[in-house]
Amino acid sequence: MVFPYVFCRMKGLLTLAIALVFPLMACAAPIPVALPAADLAQAPQPASAAHADHGHEGAELRQLAPTALAEDEKLRVVATTNILADVVRSVGGDQIELTSLLPVGADPHSYNATPADLRLLSDAHVVFIVGEGIEESLLAVLENREGGSALITVNTGIDLMEMHDEAEAHPDDHEDEHAEEHEETHAEAEAHHHHDLDPHTWTAVPNVIHWVEIIEHALGELDPANAEVYESAATAYLAELEALDNEIAAAVAAIPVENRKLVTDHETFGYFAARYGFEVIGSVIPSFSTLAAPSAQELAALQRQIEAEGVKAIFVGSTVNPSLAGQIADDVGVQVVPLYADSLSDPTGPAPTYIDMMRYNVTAIVAALQ
Ligand SMILES: [Zn+2]
Repeated sequence: MVFPYVFCRMKGLLTLAIALVFPLMACAAPIPVALPAADLAQAPQPASAAHADHGHEGAELRQLAPTALAEDEKLRVVATTNILADVVRSVGGDQIELTSLLPVGADPHSYNATPADLRLLSDAHVVFIVGEGIEESLLAVLENREGGSALITVNTGIDLMEMHDEAEAHPDDHEDEHAEEHEETHAEAEAHHHHDLDPHTWTAVPNVIHWVEIIEHALGELDPANAEVYESAATAYLAELEALDNEIAAAVAAIPVENRKLVTDHETFGYFAARYGFEVIGSVIPSFSTLAAPSAQELAALQRQIEAEGVKAIFVGSTVNPSLAGQIADDVGVQVVPLYADSLSDPTGPAPTYIDMMRYNVTAIVAALQ
């Protein structure tokens, strides 16, 4: 990823015309399949991981009108998830007034806006969302927000992964429903919070590098007086993220290849698996959303798979009730390992920032699967 984002770092020096074209080619490179480092190049790709092209790459790198700010007034920024807010904070620093809508531990799939959230949204200059369905219960509120803030979707431009084993995840009795779904237009599918694309992009570091590009661009456009501050903060943070990406690849090398198998509470680690060389065996809720529920047959099938594949642990995020995973783990005699997938920890916990969260998860995964 060094090559593409050298272009992005240079884009401030280029003319507007080039800046509008180059990010489409450079920043929107298909990230989950890019494996530059020597260690990462060894990582096998999940055979059935398919990628979907949404056709609006680079849309968020559009030109944004500068915000009229009074002296001493800061750009008011809202980010939906606390993971995204931490990444925005790493670029915006003290120059912005940042609020995360979702408190620590809240499930982004099921979170509903409070009256205070509505006020924050209407008061904001810019709202950053992850997009592609992770804020599925907030979508209507986000789309109908008052105040005319810019809405920036950081997953835009990332090739989103589809369900790794579509056939097993959707039993035959859903066939008709799916045939209909395929007839839908993209807009209709959006309206149905389509769970067939994985929004959990941040589990692979290169995707967050992409987020940073989008965030830096948007903040610089909306608040040009501080554009250079945002650019230098982004440059420093990108270097940390690159180091983190390499650190993860080195850490997982300690896990025997035959043990690099993941079972999670819902489908959260697809990008992590593709990037760092794991196989996703399945999940307790066989969906990219926690709003779905597993059938008895699906749970039985997962149990058989865990036993057949010799999976050593079930990883459960902090936003999900662990009781069902606990029952399965007890039945098949594996351990439940807590992780942070859809939310950071509180500031005194082990995962108060995105980088801390990734380090914590990798350490826990290595310890459980070694
Ligand atoms: Zn999730």
